[in-house]
Amino acid sequence: MLPYVTMEEAEEAMGRGLSYAERVWFRYSANKSDFVLHCHNIVFLCFFYSAASLPYVFIELCNNKSIVKCKVQPRVRNTFWQMFKCYKNVMHTFILAVGPLQILSFPTVKLLGIRTDLSLPSGWEFVLQLSVYFIIEDFANYWIHRILHSPWAYQKIHKVHHEYKAPHGLAAPYAHWAEILILGFPSFLGPTLVPCHITTYWLWFVLRQLEAIETHSGYEFPWSPTKYIPFYGGATYHDYHHLVGENCQCNFASVFTYCDLIYGTHKGYRYKTKLLKKASLNQQNHKTE
Ligand SMILES: [Zn+2]
Ligand SMILES: [Zn+2]
Repeated sequence: MLPYVTMEEAEEAMGRGLSYAERVWFRYSANKSDFVLHCHNIVFLCFFYSAASLPYVFIELCNNKSIVKCKVQPRVRNTFWQMFKCYKNVMHTFILAVGPLQILSFPTVKLLGIRTDLSLPSGWEFVLQLSVYFIIEDFANYWIHRILHSPWAYQKIHKVHHEYKAPHGLAAPYAHWAEILILGFPSFLGPTLVPCHITTYWLWFVLRQLEAIETHSGYEFPWSPTKYIPFYGGATYHDYHHLVGENCQCNFASVFTYCDLIYGTHKGYRYKTKLLKKASLNQQNHKTE
C-alpha cells in the first residue's frame, strides 16, 4: 500500500512529476495492501500455467503434419484425458501446497525487502535482476535435481515428475507436492539475495513458469526466441532426461546447460546425439546411392 492518498501528494513527496508507468502503478496499487499485492502471485501462477500451456495442448491434439516435424518424440502422443488428469493434479498442488506457502511466506518476503513503492525499476534493473535470479536458481536446481535422482528420493518424490516419458506443456509443474515445495526454495533464493520491486518479483515467477512450460512442451520450434539465449537447454535437451527416466545421469539442468557441461553430466546426451547424427547421415548416403 502506498503512503499517499492522492497522486498530487505522491508527486510532492517525490519532488517531481510521475512517469506514465508510475501513474499506472499508483492507480493500481495505492489502495491495495502489500499482502494483497503479494498474493497476486497465486493468481498469476494458476492463470499463466493454464493460458501458456493451452496452445501446446491444441498442438498436441491437432496432430498437424508440419507441427509434428517439430515434436521431439513424434511417435508418442498425449491424449486429452492424460493431459486433463495432469492439469487437475497440478491445480490441486497449486491450491493445497503452493497457495498456502505463498501466504505463509509473506512476512519473510516483506522482511527480505521486496518493495511496493512508486520508484519502479528501470529496464536495465529488470534485466539484470532477472538474469541473476535465473542463474542462482538454475545452479541450486541442478544440485537438487541430482539429489532427487538418488534411489530413495527418486522412488519417494521425483518419480511422479518422471511419469511422462514424453512430457507436454502441462507436465512442467506435475510433480510430488514435496518436490514443488523443495524446488520453490531456489526460486526464492535470487530475490532473497538481491531484493527487488514487487513487479520484478511477479515477472520473475511468470517468466520462470513460461520457461518451464516451453522446456516440457515436447516441441522444439526453430523460430523460438529462446534459441538465441546462450546455454539455453530447451525442449529436446530436457526431453531426453524424461525419456531415460530413473537411471538418467545427465541433463539435470532446468534452464541452462552450463552446469551439466561443468560437472560432466552431459556426456550420455552428447553420445546419443552423435549416434543419431551418424545414423541419419548413413541413411542419407544409402538414399543417394
Ligand atoms: Zn529428473
Ligand atoms: Zn521435467
